Amino acid sequence: MPECPQCRQSVDARAIACPHCRTPLKAFGHPGVPLYRAEGEAALCETCLYHHDDSCNYPQRPHARDCTLYTNQARQPDSPIYRPSPSSLMKAWLQRHLVWVLLGALLLVSLLLALRG
Ligand code: SF4
Ligand SMILES: [Zn+2]
Repeated sequence: MPECPQCRQSVDARAIACPHCRTPLKAFGHPGVPLYRAEGEAALCETCLYHHDDSCNYPQRPHARDCTLYTNQARQPDSPIYRPSPSSLMKAWLQRHLVWVLLGALLLVSLLLALRG
């Protein structure tokens, strides 16, 4: 069972936040989107593949303390590199903001109906 990077208690692998100290463990409140955290003083970017190949354009680079796309550059070259697909990130964002998306759609429909009538 993985442990919380903050309080070192055992946590469920799919937990969105640590049940002991409430540290967020997943991004966008979605159990399928991992949130990597720096341990110690060094920023995540220092060991991230995307910092070293200069392909990252995240604004928090090069000082990211947590990141969803962190990939350790020391990984074996033949191991697959995990990047959440844009559709899974979009799905996670939609799930988190579903209420606002629905309200916006409702407002838009109301406006269109008012303009036509
Ligand atoms: S993907 Fe994240 S950890 Fe990697 S360089 Fe970009 S901001 Fe830093
Ligand atoms: Zn914790």
